[in-house]
Amino acid sequence: MVLKSKTAKANFDSLLRIFTVPEGPGSTLTQIEDKISQNLNQFLREHIVSEEKPLKAIEQDFLSSQIPEQPVFVSEHTQHLLDKVVAQSVHTSAPSFIGHMTSALPYFLMPLSKIMIALNQNLVKIETSKAFTPLERQVIGMLHRLIYTGSEDFYTQWMHSANHSLGAFCSGGTIANITALWVARNNALKAQGSFQGVEKEGLFRAMKHYGYEGLAILVSERGHYSLKKAADLLGIGQQGLVVIPTDEHNKIKPDALQTTIRQLKQQQILPFAVVGVAGTTETGNIDPLAEIAAICQQEQCHFHVDAAWGGATLMSNQYRHLLNGIEQADSVTIDAHKQLYLPMGAGMVLFKSPTSSHAIEHHAQYILREGSKDLGSRTLEGSRSGMAMLVYASMHIISRAGYELLINESIQKAAYFADLIRQQNDFELVSEPELCLLTYRYVPEQARLALQHCTGDALDQLNQQLNELTKFIQKKQRESGKSFVSRTQLTPKRWQYLNTIVFRVVLANPLTTKDILHSVLEEQRHIAALAPALLREIQRSAASILSDKI
Ligand SMILES: *Cc1c(COP(=O)(O)O)cnc(C)c1O
Repeated sequence: MVLKSKTAKANFDSLLRIFTVPEGPGSTLTQIEDKISQNLNQFLREHIVSEEKPLKAIEQDFLSSQIPEQPVFVSEHTQHLLDKVVAQSVHTSAPSFIGHMTSALPYFLMPLSKIMIALNQNLVKIETSKAFTPLERQVIGMLHRLIYTGSEDFYTQWMHSANHSLGAFCSGGTIANITALWVARNNALKAQGSFQGVEKEGLFRAMKHYGYEGLAILVSERGHYSLKKAADLLGIGQQGLVVIPTDEHNKIKPDALQTTIRQLKQQQILPFAVVGVAGTTETGNIDPLAEIAAICQQEQCHFHVDAAWGGATLMSNQYRHLLNGIEQADSVTIDAHKQLYLPMGAGMVLFKSPTSSHAIEHHAQYILREGSKDLGSRTLEGSRSGMAMLVYASMHIISRAGYELLINESIQKAAYFADLIRQQNDFELVSEPELCLLTYRYVPEQARLALQHCTGDALDQLNQQLNELTKFIQKKQRESGKSFVSRTQLTPKRWQYLNTIVFRVVLANPLTTKDILHSVLEEQRHIAALAPALLREIQRSAASILSDKI
């Protein structure tokens, strides 16, 4: 028998209740809240169904496009969320889920988030944020200082200055990158003589005025896809994002960068910005930032560093040298929701110069009046939440020294895992970890031997078979729900730049133990054995390559 769900009545009195009366102590919602604050991991383990359900089946629960006419009770709807949403979500904070960049969260953030949401401050302007605006300016000052190590006087002078900002807080790395390149574009096409600047007259007239045939942003082939969006939005076009080759360590080749800049300039195309990556999304490598800085200085382009993921490394006195040169960047993106262990929605762009953001300043009469300390006049987004409070709290509760421990631990764990992979006869480390991200793949022993001895079509064929195997293992591992590694495609020099599918792991979760790393490899080996046909094919290719050799 199907029970008809209980419905409340849509009348004004019951509506008033949801604004004024909290859920009772025994209510479903309160019980869930208690469980989450007592043991989040256990709560998720109990409620997330690990068995993979096909997306098509899940879609069946989300078919109606009609907004309900009749309200349901909170407790009943909460149960519905548990059954249909929580049960089918991903246990991202599980220590064996090592495939993603957003991470496990410290407990104190749960109740603090509640305070943040309850206060519902809007950071677009002082009138709706008050203490949150100076707080956010301080957080931006802290991150600015972490990167640029300015003097005490510098921050005293600029951090709270109404007509300046040291950066912008936003929802993530994508918006941060767009903001940085927006500033760079407007500065490159600024007002001159009778021309009032690209922000007033638009790209078409700007190009005519300056006599350019096009604009370009340069980044390595490992650049994040958000830069493509930025190029598109800023009117430069996706083809205006010019991709520079990388060396075998996935770092931009400075010579190639230099040559490309010259070639573009000869074609009257202005390379107005170069993006250095500090922690590439696929391999975690860091571009030679100091060398890029020197080129940018000489060629007069804006130097932006995308440190969305890797920027947190600056917290570690032991490893911050890996990002040397970042202090010369005109702008830097950092995502606090990656290696600073904050919930999603915490991105930042920092500007070396307190006046940089003047290039994107907008004022309105009813808010964002000139001379006010409103942050909204220099941000892409309008209404924004008080997320900076959570960053502020983490800076105090975890502290720089605490973050250093977390970062060092992650980097050392990745080095450990890389060693572990190297010790296996049937795994291959594809990219060495520079930070806490590495890539590898499963290669049966004989195939490893064969790879050393083949080229051309034979290599291509074996590599394709291995790609199939990697895909199979990654998918099955995800479906079994015990652990998760992600996968990506690289073109390693060692394998003659062939498309090579690899497992990708990010070891930022402090709860991920060495035992878990061992068992991830064990599980992958075990899953490989579940594809006998594929293994036989690989075996056959390998045998044929090896018999040709001997
Ligand atoms: C994650 C990431 C981004 C995008 O950040 P979002 O917060 O997802 O918008 C940009 N660049 C790099 C290098 C990243 O790792």
